[in-house]
Amino acid sequence: MAPAIGAVSHWFENLPIPRPALPGDRDADVCIIGAGYTGLWTAYYLTKADPSLRITVLEARFAGFGASGRNGGWLSGLPPGHRGLLAEQHGRDAVIAWQRLLEESVDEVIAVAAAEGIDADILKGGNLEVARTPAQAGRLRAEVEQDRSWGVDGAEILSAAEAAERVRVDSLVLGSFNPQCARIQPAKLVRGLADTVERLGVSIYEQTPVTAIAAGRAETPLGVLRAPVILRATEGFTARMRGLRRRWLPMNSAMIATDPLPPRVWDAIGWAGCETLGDLAHGFFYAQRTADGRIALGGRAVPYRYGSRVDRDGAVGQATVDYLTGVLNTALPQTRGVPVAHGWCGVLAVPRDWTATVRLDPVTGIGEAGGYVGHGVTATNLAGRTLTDLVLKRSTALTALPWVDHRCKTWEPEPLRWLGVRGLYTAYQVADRHEASGRSSTSPVARLADRITRRP
Ligand SMILES: Cc1cc2nc3c(=O)[nH]c(=O)nc-3n(C[C@H](O)[C@H](O)[C@H](O)COP(=O)(O)OP(=O)(O)OC[C@H]3O[C@@H](n4cnc5c(N)ncnc54)[C@H](O)[C@@H]3O)c2cc1C
Repeated sequence: MAPAIGAVSHWFENLPIPRPALPGDRDADVCIIGAGYTGLWTAYYLTKADPSLRITVLEARFAGFGASGRNGGWLSGLPPGHRGLLAEQHGRDAVIAWQRLLEESVDEVIAVAAAEGIDADILKGGNLEVARTPAQAGRLRAEVEQDRSWGVDGAEILSAAEAAERVRVDSLVLGSFNPQCARIQPAKLVRGLADTVERLGVSIYEQTPVTAIAAGRAETPLGVLRAPVILRATEGFTARMRGLRRRWLPMNSAMIATDPLPPRVWDAIGWAGCETLGDLAHGFFYAQRTADGRIALGGRAVPYRYGSRVDRDGAVGQATVDYLTGVLNTALPQTRGVPVAHGWCGVLAVPRDWTATVRLDPVTGIGEAGGYVGHGVTATNLAGRTLTDLVLKRSTALTALPWVDHRCKTWEPEPLRWLGVRGLYTAYQVADRHEASGRSSTSPVARLADRITRRP
């Protein structure tokens, strides 16, 4: 049977019936735009800190419509930004503090989900990274050393045999394991969070696109929400808002989910620990073993659409499904013949310097968090707690973190933006091909591309 395509993502068994839209002009103390993890974590911590606050969330479609309902489900401490760059600006200790808090946020998400009764199929099995060429192995070693220097204590190198004891990936050269990572079912987390904040008294209006923001007001076709604090949590969709087209690039990432694998295939693969799994190719894959015995795997098929356009409800082309199926079958040949049940995609925001930000302008009352470069499942929690402190004018360890009020230049206008991203991703494909032929170090083509993007 042909796989289902789009329908937002595989993680929604059925698309939810949207909550009612904004019923006309309203007032609030805090208005949050976007009901993904960023918006909902912010609403959660704000209402917990001050239950008297009138908090309203405005969402264009429904809670979880964006990346929060479509992602790979890696709840990891991976930094949403360029640690070296932030260290140049704020010092090494500040970045180590940030990295530590990101790692701790993995447990914070797990703890809140447990406390609030959110069942998101969370399993903390750690993260397994695999190198499948000598050049990838060099990068993997460097990555673990770098992580340690930034305070990631638990990451360790595994021999090919040790890595294969966990997951029998083809052509293994080396592995690394970091216990501080969990698999989640993304949509269950975001939908559970929406229900939780609503139960705590937050108003969520869905089917309510915000068309303009100004100090004290968010405009929608259904009415104006007046609030002294307006927080934008629109991540990969930000480019669609007036005046913000070049702010963050909406990078596309696509995924497939297989049918449940038969027990004999699982026996051949291993993966009993349900680690999240990824490789070190420049066009890397990320994967998880789902609670219902499928493999969900993602990669960057068509990275960017001209003019910062975004997909329509997660729809991907058959070529993308075929590409990702090829990646899966090559890395895990045991899966050949297993049908793919679903293919979809989503957008994540990439700032020009590859580094996320959290900020609140005390004069206008307008704030935002985002630009997580595909590492937002955990970082949104830390961002939500940080925005909470900023809104409540609390000076804390979180408000001193180096990503707070981080600024960078905007992306180039079209067609330069499209040509640049396309050129860089072609370079990464060429580099992967170079490296597959056995070279022992990272291809110079990829080194050059990394220097241009300042990609960490
Ligand atoms: C395919 C894919 C795989 C990924 N895998 C991982 C992973 O495994 N681990 C990881 O850490 N990160 C991953 N990410 C990134 C991660 O999902 C995001 O960083 C995170 O979900 C961002 O959450 P958010 O709430 O900021 O944005 P979103 O979840 O995108 O939410 C933004 C919301 O704003 C709404 N909105 C937009 N514009 C408006 C408007 N004008 N008015 C009202 N509402 C609006 C949207 O409808 C949407 O619901 C992945 C992303 C993708 C796309």
